Amino acid sequence: MAARLLLRSAVRAATTCRTGPVPALTRSMAAGGIPTDEEQATGLEKIIMKATKEGKDPYSMLKPKQYTGSKADPHLVPSITNKRIVGCVCEEDNTSVIWFWLHEGEAQRCPSCGAHYKLVPHELPH
Ligand SMILES: [Zn+2]
Repeated sequence: MAARLLLRSAVRAATTCRTGPVPALTRSMAAGGIPTDEEQATGLEKIIMKATKEGKDPYSMLKPKQYTGSKADPHLVPSITNKRIVGCVCEEDNTSVIWFWLHEGEAQRCPSCGAHYKLVPHELPH
């Protein structure tokens, strides 16, 4: 019985012809639909979405950019103060880390391998 009712409604739906334009599907809250992520985001999520649209990464969520470590292209180390401890794994397979203080100003070299590091000011988003 239920199968016959389903079959009848399916045949009716297939044979009826719509005249006029089919309304476009919309998801916008203004049109009474489901709100998008941008429309319903609040707080920290909204700040992150807005910054991502502007191409910023305020919470360092993306993969860090690669630098060569030369004097012309030093590794940029963000810091909220005027110094920061840096650990350098001088070669890829090294099991030890060379730790040293990096101070604000000119780029400094790793005491072991000579890679250049430069401290850049970083401001917290809030
Ligand atoms: Zn090093």
